[in-house]
Amino acid sequence: MKRYGTFIDDESRRLLQNVRNFVNREIMPVRQELDESREACEKVIKKLVDLGMQKYGLSPKYGGMPIRSAAEYCAVCEELARGDSGIATEMTCPEWLFGPAMRGRNKVVLEKFMAPFCSDERHTACFALTEPAGGCNGEDSTQHGMSLRTTAKLDGDEWVINGSKRWPGGAGIADIYGVLCTTDPALGEEGVALIYVPDGLPGLTFGKPENKSGMKYSDVNADIYFDNVRVPKEYRASGPGEDWMLFRGALSWGRLSSSGFAIGNAQAVLEIVIDYTANRFYKGKSVREHTLQAAMIADMIMGIESARAYYLSVASMFDTRSEFGDPGGSFLMGKATGSKVYACDVTEMVCNRGMELMGAYGYIKEYHVEKYLRDFKIIQIWEGGGQLGRIEVANGYYPLG
Ligand SMILES: Cc1cc2nc3c(=O)[nH]c(=O)nc-3n(C[C@H](O)[C@H](O)[C@H](O)COP(=O)(O)OP(=O)(O)OC[C@H]3O[C@@H](n4cnc5c(N)ncnc54)[C@H](O)[C@@H]3O)c2cc1C
Repeated sequence: MKRYGTFIDDESRRLLQNVRNFVNREIMPVRQELDESREACEKVIKKLVDLGMQKYGLSPKYGGMPIRSAAEYCAVCEELARGDSGIATEMTCPEWLFGPAMRGRNKVVLEKFMAPFCSDERHTACFALTEPAGGCNGEDSTQHGMSLRTTAKLDGDEWVINGSKRWPGGAGIADIYGVLCTTDPALGEEGVALIYVPDGLPGLTFGKPENKSGMKYSDVNADIYFDNVRVPKEYRASGPGEDWMLFRGALSWGRLSSSGFAIGNAQAVLEIVIDYTANRFYKGKSVREHTLQAAMIADMIMGIESARAYYLSVASMFDTRSEFGDPGGSFLMGKATGSKVYACDVTEMVCNRGMELMGAYGYIKEYHVEKYLRDFKIIQIWEGGGQLGRIEVANGYYPLG
């Protein structure tokens, strides 16, 4: 666990070692199967539930396993994603989804919906932010939630939800959905409402799973439709203005941890390349011993190590909120987004170079590099992509929009 330096303590190191051992034993040998069937993914996920990972990051008061530090959390994401980033996404989604309810101290949601995730029984969570008209719109701080079109209207003691969501992981298979709504787009941030919707309610329906390039079966993505879906008013995370900040905090946290996801993919590719190029020769020397290729590998290593150091240093700021403010505020949002954008740019370079260093063997499924390239690409795109991401980075220094 040397790669995380002194950003993590001995206890975190033990947890990370357990996760790495699990990934080496249970995921690495079946990476291709995970890319070919949901059944293979379910088998691995069940074993991760048995290991206790479903409750990771959930409040210990309800039986969850606490996170010791943001650095530990991101490193766990990296270790899991080194095996398969779709599996990593599904296993960390409960923490992402219930984060706002935990920070908003919503006892009803935590007792009713989060507590079951702290058991040894398998559950699935889904956080639905993206809308058909554009994922980046809702995630763009300069639009202040005004572009959201999924509405929540209070009728007596119930929210009535109408609209649709696009792409969220876990759609159609989850037990619980976190849905980003607006009570009135004209109210902007004050109108944003984050509402927890259990599966099985009248008016809640789903499209068919998307056929994607990567994370084919390990992340299940589909449309969600809300046609007068009614839930008790207590299922709202908190209240006007507060839900906006809870959502922004979750987005910031999601971007920070996405840095770990991306670098997990890059690290896996680096390991494959170092191994492969030791046993491939030209002009009497292994590929990796030639200075041209060693320099290319060195660039990959420097990229990975600097991106990891970047996310670990931002993570340490998340752990010192008294100094650095709310994760949803422009300072930490800028930092978290920057670490994601950079980690994804590095991972893109690492996957491309890795493939070139391996020649045609980098392009076939047997060596998995092409899988990491496909899987990682959506990490770069999700939660706002590199373009909106760069705007958030600048916005951390001076106000835009
Ligand atoms: C496998 C997978 C998993 C996903 N998981 C989830 C999930 O769990 N929950 C969820 O809610 N969504 C999820 N998504 C959706 C994902 O987050 C969005 O697709 C993503 O945010 C981009 O939105 P979009 O596709 O609508 O692109 P658009 O918003 O249409 O963006 C198109 C282009 O315009 C740029 N752009 C748009 N707006 C701006 C702006 N204001 N400033 C600068 N550039 C801009 C973008 O960067 C991009 O280059 C997932 C998608 C996939 C494929």
